[in-house]
Amino acid sequence: MNRLYINQDYCKGCLICVDVCPKHAIGASDRLNSKGYILPDEIDMSECSGCMLCEMVCPDFAIAVETDEEAYRHGGET
Ligand code: SF4
Ligand code: SF4
Repeated sequence: MNRLYINQDYCKGCLICVDVCPKHAIGASDRLNSKGYILPDEIDMSECSGCMLCEMVCPDFAIAVETDEEAYRHGGET
């Protein structure tokens, strides 16, 4: 299953990533970062298509998705 990574220090809680996710795989969490911003989180990553829209729209480079394929590739490199 694809995995979501959030850089909590970079995130400013705009939730644009959540808005653009066509699969509703991610959503607002109930967690705040040190600046008090709402962090996004996984909701149902089994729905994630790996389209990378969330990564592309984030103005702060705070979100990344690792697809199964990437995980496999990286695993093979070690
Ligand atoms: S788009 Fe980026 S900065 Fe905005 S909530 Fe998502 S991860 Fe945080
Ligand atoms: S890669 Fe696409 S489907 Fe997966 S969480 Fe991001 S926007 Fe949603």
